[in-house]
Amino acid sequence: MNARRIGAAVVATGLAVGLAACGGGGSSTGSGSGSGSGGTIKIGIKFDQPGLGLKEGDKYTGLDVDVATYVAKKLGYAADKIQFVQSPSAQRETLISTGQVKLVVATYSITDARKEKVSFAGPYFIAGQDLLVRADDTAITGKDSLKGKKLCSVTGSTSAQKVKKDIPDVNLQEFGTYSECVAALVSKGVDALTTDNTILAGYASQAQYKGKLKVVGAPFSTENYGIGLKKGDTALCQKVTGAITAMISDGSWQKAVDTNLGPAGFKPGPGNPPTPAACS
Ligand code: GLU
Repeated sequence: MNARRIGAAVVATGLAVGLAACGGGGSSTGSGSGSGSGGTIKIGIKFDQPGLGLKEGDKYTGLDVDVATYVAKKLGYAADKIQFVQSPSAQRETLISTGQVKLVVATYSITDARKEKVSFAGPYFIAGQDLLVRADDTAITGKDSLKGKKLCSVTGSTSAQKVKKDIPDVNLQEFGTYSECVAALVSKGVDALTTDNTILAGYASQAQYKGKLKVVGAPFSTENYGIGLKKGDTALCQKVTGAITAMISDGSWQKAVDTNLGPAGFKPGPGNPPTPAACS
């Protein structure tokens, strides 16, 4: 317990320092036109979600990274002009509205509440909320078998919000990132982790967790992943929507899905590939 708390504190401190560093030099990119005249573009992704957004050394991988890279290229930014910025769930709206990032591509569900603060292009993928448990757990079979259990999720996510609304009598513990929840699950500090099935499949397939964790496989929500951008920037939204549409129609979307989600054995559910909505 103590060790975990210290670990969480260290992670939180690291994030704060990282954000402060970004705030210092973020203004010029924030006002960039997207024309790609030699400048860089800051894009928010997750750093700790294998298959979606993962940072290992100076290498970034995942479906969100590939979508971000494809979209940036269409906006005029080559891959080496992208600066990826860590965007934990609870910080995404702020990172966009303060101009610290131009786009957020970070397993970011389109919701009406978020639309009050940011605009979205997409969806570019449809996921569903599910549960990750220890491999030997036979008691937790879905969202209706969580009574009295310790359930981990992340602050500012739709996953935590849905638990509070729809799953009574569960002991919800909110952390800053899903990787902290995975560590707590493995060390038996919590009984389950809930978030999108895409994210859970990525953790379950990691070498160090193989045979130790399993996805329950009973999704109970629809998560439409969008690309977040400054509220009301319809011109940018339309360009990003065009890029997503092109990525789906030219086969790059399927390739990115196979490359990034295939290794975890994840098969996209119904509705994929989606048709992006019109920008409003
Ligand atoms: N897609 C959900 C959300 O946007 C859960 C995953 C996440 O927190 O990034 O809140």
